[in-house]
Amino acid sequence: PKSRRIAVLGARAVGKSSLVIQFCENHFVESYYPTIESTFTKTIRYKGYEYSVEIMDTAGQDEYSILSSHHASSMDGYVLVYSISSRSSFDMVKIIRDKILDFTGLESVPCVVVGNKSDLSIQRQISPEEGKELGEQWQCSTIETSAKHDENVYCCWFLFTDSEEQTQVLK
Ligand code: GDP
Ligand code: MG
Repeated sequence: PKSRRIAVLGARAVGKSSLVIQFCENHFVESYYPTIESTFTKTIRYKGYEYSVEIMDTAGQDEYSILSSHHASSMDGYVLVYSISSRSSFDMVKIIRDKILDFTGLESVPCVVVGNKSDLSIQRQISPEEGKELGEQWQCSTIETSAKHDENVYCCWFLFTDSEEQTQVLK
C-alpha cells in the first residue's frame, strides 16, 4: 500500500492521545501518560487504493517542545487539536500552524482542525462558528469531536480523502 504520515499536534491535555486511541483501538482512555509519544498505524482503502496511515501522537508539553523538527518534517498532513473548553488551546493551534509554515517554508500545509471535548458544552469557550472561521481562513476542514463519546473521531482521514462514503478503515 501507499503510505501516509500524519502528526497529531496541540496543547497538552486537549485529548490527542484519547482521539488517536479511540480511532485506532476503539476505546476511551481516562488517563494516558502525557509525555509518551507513539505512532499508530491504520490501513485505509480510498477510491480503490490502500493506504497505510501512520499517525504520530505527539507529546510536547509547552510552546517550545510541541513542534520539534521530527514532527514537522516528512509529514503528509497535520491534525491540529484544541479543546472547545480552552481558549488558550485554540490560540496554540494558530501558533503551531505558524511554526509548521516557518519550518517547512510553505504557504499552506494539509491540515484538519479538530475541536475536541464537544461533550463539555457547559464549559465551552470556543463556539462552533469560531472553529469554522479558522477553517475558512486556512481552507481546511474543521470538525468538533468527542473522544470520550466516540463522536466524529474519524477526522484523521479527512486529510487525504474528500468523501467519507468512499473511505473504508480496513485494520
Ligand atoms: P493529550 O495530552 O492531548 O494527549 O490529552 P489526553 O488524551 O491525555 O487527554 C487529557 C485529558 O482529557 C484526559 O483526562 C482525558 O480523559 C480527557 N479527554 C480526552 N478527550 C476527551 C473528550 O472528548 N471529552 C472529555 N470530557 N474529556 C476528554
Ligand atoms: Mg498525549
